[in-house]
Amino acid sequence: MSTYHAPLAEMEFVLNEVDGLAQISKLPGFEDAAPDTVSAILEEAGKFATNVLDPLNWSGDREGAKRLDDGTVTTPAGFKEAYRQFCENGWNGLTKDPEFGGQGLPQLVQTAVEEMWHAANLAFDLCPLLTQGAVEAITLRGSDELKQKYLPNMVAGTWTGTMNLTEPQAGSDLAAVRTRAEPQPDGAYRLFGQKIYITFGEHDYTDNIIHLVLARTPDAPEGVKGISLFVVPKFMVNDDGTLGARNDVHCVSLEHKLGIHASPTAVMVYGDHGGAVGYLVGEENRGLEYMFIMMNLARFSVGMEGVGLSERAYQRAVAYAKERVQGRAVGLDKAAKAGAIIEHPDIRRMLMTMRAYTEAMRAVAYVTAAALDNAHRHPDAEARKRHSAFVDLMIPIVKGWSTEIAQEVTYLGVQVHGGMGFIEETGAAQHYRDARIITIYEGTTGIQANDLIGRKTARDAGAVANAVAGEIDKVAAKLASHSDPSLNAIGMQLAASVADLQAAIAWLVPAFGAQTRAAHAVAVPYLKLWGIVAGGWQLGRGALIATAHLTEGRGNAEFLRAKIATARFYAECLLPQSSGHSHAITHGSASVLALPVEAF
Ligand SMILES: Cc1cc2nc3c(=O)[nH]c(=O)nc-3n(C[C@H](O)[C@H](O)[C@H](O)COP(=O)(O)OP(=O)(O)OC[C@H]3O[C@@H](n4cnc5c(N)ncnc54)[C@H](O)[C@@H]3O)c2cc1C
Repeated sequence: MSTYHAPLAEMEFVLNEVDGLAQISKLPGFEDAAPDTVSAILEEAGKFATNVLDPLNWSGDREGAKRLDDGTVTTPAGFKEAYRQFCENGWNGLTKDPEFGGQGLPQLVQTAVEEMWHAANLAFDLCPLLTQGAVEAITLRGSDELKQKYLPNMVAGTWTGTMNLTEPQAGSDLAAVRTRAEPQPDGAYRLFGQKIYITFGEHDYTDNIIHLVLARTPDAPEGVKGISLFVVPKFMVNDDGTLGARNDVHCVSLEHKLGIHASPTAVMVYGDHGGAVGYLVGEENRGLEYMFIMMNLARFSVGMEGVGLSERAYQRAVAYAKERVQGRAVGLDKAAKAGAIIEHPDIRRMLMTMRAYTEAMRAVAYVTAAALDNAHRHPDAEARKRHSAFVDLMIPIVKGWSTEIAQEVTYLGVQVHGGMGFIEETGAAQHYRDARIITIYEGTTGIQANDLIGRKTARDAGAVANAVAGEIDKVAAKLASHSDPSLNAIGMQLAASVADLQAAIAWLVPAFGAQTRAAHAVAVPYLKLWGIVAGGWQLGRGALIATAHLTEGRGNAEFLRAKIATARFYAECLLPQSSGHSHAITHGSASVLALPVEAF
């Protein structure tokens, strides 16, 4: 079995050289994130991922989470202890407000750390990830009382959080939520209803679980404008902070799933015994709006799950390809005996594809994280606005594209293993199974693509999309005019691909208003087009920087040359997909919709 090792050199190159961690660490409140400190944090996180989380990944998959007859849920052996260590080491509150016990570090740092948790043990990390979402919701919109009562324990990880949105009839369409919340004379509410697929809705890590629940008050308007957000603790919390009575919220079953077996996915029932006591977050009927503010970060994190899983699948495939001996590689020394499969050109193609996609996804996600920090903390209002617009555009791309590409990367991870890839013991199959959920939860790829074509592209008539495409074009021109043949090749293809993107934006903006169904029919190709071009853009920037370092004799030459070679492979072998996507967008929508329902 291979062991996960955080790709620290690659992470630090992207953080420091491409995304300007030094600038981020000068933003107000981020003074503790100087590059040297961050380097030490990443090293420690890497050790925790390798030594504590990675060894539990496979056993956790085999054993799975279990619900006992008394309604309690146990996580696989070792998970509870690993969670205790995770919290004791302070990993739970990395970006959280220091007022509530967090460390207040930038999102850019959290992003790199989080990648390691996802890579080493996705099922384990879903609990902290959901807690993070719940903390975010209370921090952004909760009353001071709610904050004081719940945040310190949730930031420390002593209590965990969940997000309860989905109901049997309300998945992608949250307007259909039916859970009821009845106001009580004391200002609290009583909740009644059923929520499904609730990640870590019940578990044995901690004494209390704080559920964030979407529900409707009695006179709420129909649809999305009538949904409110509530805090519902598993155990009531007394004024002195001690735990009180058991609340009326129970896990009635766990789902049997394709992957992430160690993560309990619960059916939760609220109010079977008189009503679950809940407390309103913010104002009535604004729950979905709050949830969306918070969901941005959750969607970003799921995109990072794609990066982490891809990195893990890649490392495992490389280790196997260097070990497995099969056949003599074509075109090499005829006298040589059979060699490792990594010598076969087709295995190299698969490994390069996995590597290039993973580096591209990472670079796209990290540059978005850096923009998130600037959007919140940059001293100049115009800069904050610009960064914020970029983040808004990129979130559905990070979520939608990285999770889709992770399917391909984990698929290739199985393929590199041959028959052994299909056999569970190698671990490659687990990555493939675990990856399958990430294009679905936190909004499917279709939902991300709808967001991208509507709110993020058509609403401002393509202004932000075109501005970002213009930035990509500038990088393409810089690369294409370079005397170095690799940079030149990358630049020529990037220029062609950004033209594909611009053509798609030009088609989409008028189509969104005039031919709504046609625009939606090609929304996912549009999302994929953005992803593939943004990946080429960021790898191109990295290649420019790597070349400059080589010229100046700075850094590790072998690492820098590999960065350039990977970027060139991406440009020559993967980036040309842009023309296929662009063609499908500008010509394909009628054929998507050509057949009537009865023909299926
Ligand atoms: C393991 C797991 C963990 C989960 N964790 C949580 C959790 O912690 N909390 C929580 O609240 N939920 C959770 N979910 C629920 C998850 O977010 C939903 O499953 C997801 O949003 C999709 O909803 P759905 O399953 O009802 O599918 P549907 O909404 O029925 O979608 C079915 C298909 O129709 C497509 N579709 C639907 N509407 C549109 C549209 N408008 N345009 C284009 N295509 C559309 C979808 O893309 C999809 O392909 C989890 C689910 C799973 C499986």
